[in-house]
Amino acid sequence: MAATRILTDFIRLFYPNLCMVCHNDLAEGESVICVSCLYNIPRTKYWLDSDNSVAKIFWGRALVQNACSFFFFAKGSRYRKLLHQLKYNGKKEIGFILGKEFGNELKRVDSYKNIDFIVPVPLHPRRFKQRGYNQAEEIAKGLQESMGVPISTKNLIRSGYTETQTRKTRVQRVENVSKAFQLENPVDFKGKHILIVDDIVTTGATLEECASVVLEAEDVKVSIVTLAYTSL
Ligand SMILES: [Zn+2]
Repeated sequence: MAATRILTDFIRLFYPNLCMVCHNDLAEGESVICVSCLYNIPRTKYWLDSDNSVAKIFWGRALVQNACSFFFFAKGSRYRKLLHQLKYNGKKEIGFILGKEFGNELKRVDSYKNIDFIVPVPLHPRRFKQRGYNQAEEIAKGLQESMGVPISTKNLIRSGYTETQTRKTRVQRVENVSKAFQLENPVDFKGKHILIVDDIVTTGATLEECASVVLEAEDVKVSIVTLAYTSL
């Protein structure tokens, strides 16, 4: 298995035009993932059901209008590596491609039709520096392309207080986490419907934190989407 993977990676050096999921040749106009693998991605269809498992994560935690994910991130799934490549291996175009595909589903559903701003979960500045991009923002760009909704990256920001947690007491740590995000200009989100975007949802802690900070704006509505969902 490992040998196969090494061989595949080696071949990819010389033939980068292979589908990242099935390793077949990409046709003209295809990039990273072939049309067939894109079609067969294990969609959750959660956008059609407001009481879905992702929405339930936020029940009683943050007042969220709608929440859903694009596909299931199952153990052993061939699609798993897409997220890994997006997050850790510089393949940021995966975010755009899958985000665009996801947006094509969302724009047909009433619950996601009146979004005013797409807001990617901000990456810590140190991580951003290491990685060179924010994967959530790349997904947001794809959503923007198909949904025709503008992205806002300057309002919800990381305040950078989550560093050097280890030396703090538990109480200080809790305080620290609650200050991880902040709204620069709450008035800019007044009366708007904000769609918060991230790559994956598991416990929902980060997204809950972002949602509660955005909800500080007056008359604001918040919905949440992620590319992948895993129930762990
Ligand atoms: Zn493929």
